[in-house]
Amino acid sequence: MILAPAPVKQQTARRTKIICTIGPASENPECIRDLIREGMNVARINFSHCKYDEALNRVKMLREARAELGVPLAIMLDTKGPEVRMFGYSKPVNLAKDDSLYIESTDKSPEAIPQLPPEDKRFFTNLPRIDKLCRVGSRVLLQDGFIEAEVTRLHAEWPGAVTVRVLNDGRLKDKAHLAVPGADYPIPFMSEKDKADIRFAVENGFEYIALSFVRTSKDIADVRALVKSVNPASPILLIAKIEDKQALANIYDIIRDSDGIMIARGDLGIEVPIEELPGLQKNIIKRCYLAGKPVIVATQMLESMTDKPYPTRAEVTDTANAVMELTSAVMLSGETANGSHPARVVNMMGRIIDKTESAIDYRTLARITHDYVDRDNITNIMAYSTVDAGHDWNAKAVAVVTASGIGARALSKFRPSVPIYAFAHEEALYHQLALNWGVIPFLIENPDGKLFSEVVKRTMDSLREKGTVANGDRLVYMGSSPLGKRLPTNTIRCEVVGDEAFHDEP
Ligand code: PEP
Repeated sequence: MILAPAPVKQQTARRTKIICTIGPASENPECIRDLIREGMNVARINFSHCKYDEALNRVKMLREARAELGVPLAIMLDTKGPEVRMFGYSKPVNLAKDDSLYIESTDKSPEAIPQLPPEDKRFFTNLPRIDKLCRVGSRVLLQDGFIEAEVTRLHAEWPGAVTVRVLNDGRLKDKAHLAVPGADYPIPFMSEKDKADIRFAVENGFEYIALSFVRTSKDIADVRALVKSVNPASPILLIAKIEDKQALANIYDIIRDSDGIMIARGDLGIEVPIEELPGLQKNIIKRCYLAGKPVIVATQMLESMTDKPYPTRAEVTDTANAVMELTSAVMLSGETANGSHPARVVNMMGRIIDKTESAIDYRTLARITHDYVDRDNITNIMAYSTVDAGHDWNAKAVAVVTASGIGARALSKFRPSVPIYAFAHEEALYHQLALNWGVIPFLIENPDGKLFSEVVKRTMDSLREKGTVANGDRLVYMGSSPLGKRLPTNTIRCEVVGDEAFHDEP
């Protein structure tokens, strides 16, 4: 009955999921297998730095590894998104405190712009009418926020320019990122490259797309329309990356209309005062799990391990804190894409997660969550009852037979202390559920048309054969009967493995 997985030890116990960015340091079959063995649940390919042939090669290796090891592993394409850049200089420029820079808007491409000598301190940006987005005294951040500057003069003549005074020494690299924190950038959400990359993700069967710089729920609707135009039946799910003030202003709508959220702390930490990040993270995580949507905490989680063998105390505490806040997943970026020892970083992240989770009182949290949920939603009610029964009855796991993933996500919402076994027959869903907190996905044969009780019995027998459960273990199942009719959740069954008395009726 169960086609996969043969459980990897770490993945059966761990609730908080791990996303690894695959890059030059990890794009080989051996490393990918090591990442999976250490607990990678989702592999991210960042399209800010990846060509199609490279991406296809990574996808091939990831698919081979997940099939060989028999584990669910979601593959995520992360779009480049709209980017504000500085250009017009041919080599890196050293800037010193109090330097005055002239930054002019242009609609020309960087290649069509003259390369000026660094001593001119004259630069171009693709941000239209920069003078209209600033005031004298506004902060402007250069080079990913590492260089701070203050606007000293607005030049309103077409096409607009500003003079800024640099506030700290730094080095401007090629096509440096420029930000005017808090501004609504008048550039489209999807570039032509983003559209092509989204089509590529759909055509090549990625499980997730992470959308950079989503600002409104319309952005998500536009991507859904694009996905549908490529493949109306595509099961691909959309993760909205929260990276600026506009997204924060629309956060409730974005959570409602997306399939999940990434708290992209890199860009968000530039666009809002950095000291606001911890509170925003806590709030967004809570909103997401109450809405039953997966949420990812991203960027600099174990950054120092990119080249060092151990993380800093602050990084360990940051990762543990995200786990305590009940994030669905934590993400590694450069640590696994470009670092010296990707598998070691995942091992460390797993150790921090395991230790932190072991001290959390999930039963009490489930009761608190219950107070917040929508009582008109029968799946919520059944999911809480399943979790409650699982806790009270000391079950080995709660379980769900799910065609859409809704039931599995509803169980995950309550963050139960026991694992959530999710039996899915669509392969895309089986891999997608690898992202959801506490969910251990199993791939089963299509159960449509079968009795719920029959499928329960068959999945239990398979679990026992694989050694995942043993005779006497208690399981609480949730689902809808009969299967395949897409009915709302209507059934909870309490089962004891190997005890025929528990499933002797049809
Ligand atoms: C971020 O900004 O934190 C992020 C995850 O996005 P990217 O890595 O694409 O910059």
